[in-house]
Amino acid sequence: MADQLRYPFDRVPEPAETIEVAPGVLWLRMPLELTGLSHINLWLLDDGDGWTIVDTGMNTDGIRDLWGKVLDRYLGGRPVTRVICTHFHPDHMGLAGWLCDRWRAPLWATRREWLFGRMLYLDAAEVAPEFFLDHFRRLGFKPDAVEKLRTGGYNHYRQSVWEIPGAHRRVVDAEVIEIGGRGWRVIVGHGHAPEHACLYCGELGVLISGDQVLPKITPHIGVYPSEPDANPLEEYLDSLAHYRHLPADTLVLPAHNEPFHGLPARLDYLQTHHDERLAALEAALGEPTRVLSTLKVLFRRRLKPFEAFLGVGEALAHLHCLIGRGRVERGLDADGVYVYRRTQAAADAA
Ligand SMILES: [Zn+2]
Repeated sequence: MADQLRYPFDRVPEPAETIEVAPGVLWLRMPLELTGLSHINLWLLDDGDGWTIVDTGMNTDGIRDLWGKVLDRYLGGRPVTRVICTHFHPDHMGLAGWLCDRWRAPLWATRREWLFGRMLYLDAAEVAPEFFLDHFRRLGFKPDAVEKLRTGGYNHYRQSVWEIPGAHRRVVDAEVIEIGGRGWRVIVGHGHAPEHACLYCGELGVLISGDQVLPKITPHIGVYPSEPDANPLEEYLDSLAHYRHLPADTLVLPAHNEPFHGLPARLDYLQTHHDERLAALEAALGEPTRVLSTLKVLFRRRLKPFEAFLGVGEALAHLHCLIGRGRVERGLDADGVYVYRRTQAAADAA
């Protein structure tokens, strides 16, 4: 499948450098220290009298320095007039507040992405709250692991973002935003984040896909304590249809990896990948099984601590998708820990 994707650019931007990937669309990169990801791609859109920034990077001294250099070098004396964030994750919205403050520019985002970012920024504590810990207790985390989570605090989001602006300009699905005289249509997707905005410009044949569609990694889809019974994977798979109608030769500008052609093949792959993982997981649930014991089915290698944290969220997303489809049911074992088992109907059909 991967060979059906084509990468039209033979190099990536150096720090504080931009590459024009379409008329008036500049690609830049900021470093990232999340597991498995070295960078995030951000976009500067020529907006006539000013510039629109799409996504911002995490809030670190180094990234603010890099932004300073980019803004000095590339704006040509014109101001930043708007900051658009695809979603609330810290690598995307982390410096929105800083950039908006600096330019007195508004933050444009969907309502749920702005709310979630603003909420997590404000809802921080030195010690992790009980509802957060209960989530992990129900999943079978041992007391020492829960204690580590408690003392680890409830402020990871706040630590990696500048204050999320108190106001936003709401962006809605199917809205067409005019940027530099061209229309960019908002296409909302779900599952990776609550109301993730992608931007599609038909005139340029360009899709800014954020984290909704990535070429070399599958977007993270996880269940977290704020909504422990969520079913984000089904929402994500449903959302793939929102991008199906776009032209096959669309240039996709993802937040990670490199710009590519081959959107239909990538959507097919993402669907197949999750179908296979769902089938493998269901097949492994002949007996009641805790979520931690499903990790070896879904991930073929041992996970580092942060990966394992994300991995548990991903495993739950797959389990909840199977529960939603009536293929798996959830119960409690003698220790009050959730266990998951294939339903009789699924077993009969197998
Ligand atoms: Zn994200």
